[in-house]
Amino acid sequence: MIDLHTHSTCSDGTYRPADLVREAKAAGVTHLALTDHDTVEGVAEAARAAREEGIAFLPGVEISAEFQPGTLHILGYGMDAADERLRRSLSEIQRWRRERNPKIVERLRALGLEVTLEEVAARAGGDLVGRPHFAQTLLDKGYVKSRQEAFDLYLAKGRPAYVDKVRLSAEESIALVRDAGGVAVLAHPLQLKLGDGEALEAFVKSLADRGLQGVECYYRNHTEGEEARFLALAKKYGLLVTGGSDFHGANRPAIRLGTGEGRLRVPMRCWEGLVGGTEGLGD
Ligand code: AMP
Ligand code: FE
Ligand code: FE
Ligand code: ZN
Repeated sequence: MIDLHTHSTCSDGTYRPADLVREAKAAGVTHLALTDHDTVEGVAEAARAAREEGIAFLPGVEISAEFQPGTLHILGYGMDAADERLRRSLSEIQRWRRERNPKIVERLRALGLEVTLEEVAARAGGDLVGRPHFAQTLLDKGYVKSRQEAFDLYLAKGRPAYVDKVRLSAEESIALVRDAGGVAVLAHPLQLKLGDGEALEAFVKSLADRGLQGVECYYRNHTEGEEARFLALAKKYGLLVTGGSDFHGANRPAIRLGTGEGRLRVPMRCWEGLVGGTEGLGD
């Protein structure tokens, strides 16, 4: 069982990297990648745990890039996590987040929701503090009935406590991954909000022209039909195929490691495509 998209406490998951690896092993996962948002902080710990547990491991990252109308996430696989430039760029992205968080606190307080940055940061396991930690704080303080309600009422794009953050462009995100020796992959294409037809195809083609090397065709909630359309798209533009659950632990309790929301099955060729034979792709 293969899972190439997971989050730890280093971003907005609820398992520490080593615990995530143990949890994955227990769930039957044999090949795992850790893809925290905008950080590779957890990669060394996960790699160590994977060696101990005897499962195959690939370092990863998920970079939030600038895009309208939806969300553009670029997954990176197999980068050198010690790469100086990668580290510097990721710490700059983390600084943009740190600049955003006090503004979210201000907006929530203006709405009469008494939260402090300290309370929010206490709910994050690593350097990265994000909206899921705000959602958890609002839930713990009884302002909302669920984390989802916190997004729906306050934190989601377009809601009153939403604050945008500075992001890399698509090209910069792809280059960041590739310059550190990684493979750059478009995550969960449906979240772009371009549908799964012509608009999506045109965008994927434009990303491929800018160095994209793969598409996440298998995902926690993709239907068989969506999977088939994304597989055809990847084939047409010579892109690798990847897949994963987007596991966040208790922050997204309906998602299971390896199987997502139930029907996810990531084939071995996804792993093989990432660990070998990527020469010439996307060039
Ligand atoms: P941030 O990186 O701080 O902007 O937070 C992004 C994370 O918040 C995503 O990875 C999701 O885990 C979560 N998230 C974003 N939008 C929503 C939403 N509308 N409903 C639930 N969770 C969301
Ligand atoms: Fe997340
Ligand atoms: Fe994502
Ligand atoms: Zn993710």
